[in-house]
Amino acid sequence: MSTLAAPPGDWDYAARVADVKARVHIAEASCGRAGSGVRLLVATKTWSADAAVAAVAAGARIVGESRMQELAEKGEALRAAGARVHVIGQLQRNKAAIAVEFADCVQTVDSMRLAERLSRLCVEAGRELDVMIQVNVSGEESKSGVEPDDALDLAAAVQALPALTVTGFMTIGLHSRDEEAVRAGYRRLREIRDAALIRSESGALPLTDAWHLSMGMSRDLEWAIAEGATMVRVGSAVMGQRPTPTT
Ligand SMILES: *Cc1c(COP(=O)(O)O)cnc(C)c1O
Repeated sequence: MSTLAAPPGDWDYAARVADVKARVHIAEASCGRAGSGVRLLVATKTWSADAAVAAVAAGARIVGESRMQELAEKGEALRAAGARVHVIGQLQRNKAAIAVEFADCVQTVDSMRLAERLSRLCVEAGRELDVMIQVNVSGEESKSGVEPDDALDLAAAVQALPALTVTGFMTIGLHSRDEEAVRAGYRRLREIRDAALIRSESGALPLTDAWHLSMGMSRDLEWAIAEGATMVRVGSAVMGQRPTPTT
């Protein structure tokens, strides 16, 4: 029996998606990035397949799932709806097969052991997988992610594995209303990404595809876009308040 939340009958997904896309466009324009094509990922965790599919039908092309039990339940429906599915929650190695079955991208790679497992499963399945390196820029102990100083080494080692392509870097921002503190973390992620691209251009690193910066959520997407986000991950502003607390 599924414990996932059904969509409220009167919820206007199209209006919510349009509102958030408008927020993204305004944020792009107000920092001189008009037309830069920041992508919207809608975090559909805790919501039922019906709710997630309704969001996709309303214009959410990329959805994010955190828990592999949920992804196993919703994966077929999301695929049938034409969504691109990204894993945005901590991924345990014993659940990696579910990600390889249903996801287009795993944004939360923060160790070689996880990357090696994903790579092996992808080779077995005869598929390629996009991954991002999750970096802990806030320094909060509770947050997963590799240390900023180790991010480039990990990214290069992951890129060297078969079947994986490192498409960028992801972080969960500091949970704070202090704009400068939150933005400093996002800036740090951008500096890591810039170093990856610059050093790849000279041949010193193999990270030519690692241009994505997945950062910013419902509460702070404007700050993340001002610091260079190429993808924002928005849950509650599109889906409504999650019925159960989740990380
Ligand atoms: C749930 C989630 C989001 C979206 O959070 P909201 O505050 O609902 O916008 C973004 N990123 C990650 C990793 C999440 O788990």
